[in-house]
Amino acid sequence: MQVYFDNAATTKPSRAAIEAYAKALCEDFANPSSLHEPGQKAKEKLEEARAVFAAAIGAKANEIYFTSGGSESDNQAIISAARAGKRKGKNKIISTAIEHHAVLHTLNKLKQDGFEIVLLPVSSTGLVTAEQVAAAIDERTCLVAVMYANNEIGTVLPIAEIGAVCRARGVPLFTDAVQAVGHEKIDVQAQNIDYLSLSAHKFHGPKGVGALYVRKGMPLSSLIEGGAQERGRRAGTENLPGIISAAVAIEEATKNLEQNRARVLPLRDRLIAGLSEIPHSVLNGEKEKRLFSNVHFCFEGIEGESLLLMLSDQGIAASSGSACTSGSLDPSHVLLAIGRPHEIAHGSLRLTLDETATAEQVDYVIDKVKEIVGYLRNMSPVWRDLKEGKREFIIK
Ligand SMILES: *Cc1c(COP(=O)(O)O)cnc(C)c1O
Repeated sequence: MQVYFDNAATTKPSRAAIEAYAKALCEDFANPSSLHEPGQKAKEKLEEARAVFAAAIGAKANEIYFTSGGSESDNQAIISAARAGKRKGKNKIISTAIEHHAVLHTLNKLKQDGFEIVLLPVSSTGLVTAEQVAAAIDERTCLVAVMYANNEIGTVLPIAEIGAVCRARGVPLFTDAVQAVGHEKIDVQAQNIDYLSLSAHKFHGPKGVGALYVRKGMPLSSLIEGGAQERGRRAGTENLPGIISAAVAIEEATKNLEQNRARVLPLRDRLIAGLSEIPHSVLNGEKEKRLFSNVHFCFEGIEGESLLLMLSDQGIAASSGSACTSGSLDPSHVLLAIGRPHEIAHGSLRLTLDETATAEQVDYVIDKVKEIVGYLRNMSPVWRDLKEGKREFIIK
């Protein structure tokens, strides 16, 4: 059986998104900046796509800027707010310990440039409260950056509550919503969000296409200089086929959100229940405030990498956490932030479903994970010590 349960790393483009892409490559190849008729038609398609993106998150079309993906949007939002803050003598940014590296590494660079970066600690399930944010804000704060939903453990953060605090205190809120689009109902107005990033390949669109929502009137500086595309905020000829395809994908994802949730949620819970039967295992992240597609476990006494490779041999595509940390030996910063010790953080497994998942696939994955975890433990000297009582189990 072939199972692709790594949808938080990337999704398979939908049939409609692929068809829109191919059609646009053929028909809408002209440069939207050209004055001739094909160019103007391309420009119209670009603006239609912008309106679709805006509608998906409750924004206005002129608040959407197309980028190359989530990472670029994250960089641009944070750097824009930081530059604007600096002009007003504000140099403090509040964020969380569990952000994506596109956020954390950008913040690290700003720290080297003299910004004060406060990373709020998270609860054992990956939550940050609006009260924590409120307590950290002071007159030097130029930005609050809190992700909408965590890409590793699937916890959904209280963005509306944090948005209300930020609005009341006059501090802009940026949220990395890359994992939330198509999973959570987003309304930038109601939730008081000032900057929001998203990425098409996380909701069955093409790779290399993202968007940054910027509330009207909020500062936005460009990271790429050149032509006047995107109202002078992002130079470079637009990736029109990608953008048109992504618009189809975001429309599908938001239109089908509740239907997809109703389909996937019971499968997610079936998978969680099955894997919970493995002794000395623990679910990471929130039980309730959790993306409907995300399952994330730690198993004591195994190496996550070995588990992944053996699952791959059985036709199962999974992940140990974020694609960005695999290949390095450092345990996930998210697992460390929720308090998992190093040796436990190393034994992690993330399974992220989409609406094509079936109960047969879920049962197959449960069987294979049980079998392989048992096999790896039997070979492990650490497991022998644990069994013989020479070491204490960390996960009871
Ligand atoms: C995937 C992801 C990103 C990066 O998006 P790209 O389009 O791959 O650059 C950023 N943040 C989160 C939470 C993600 O899951």
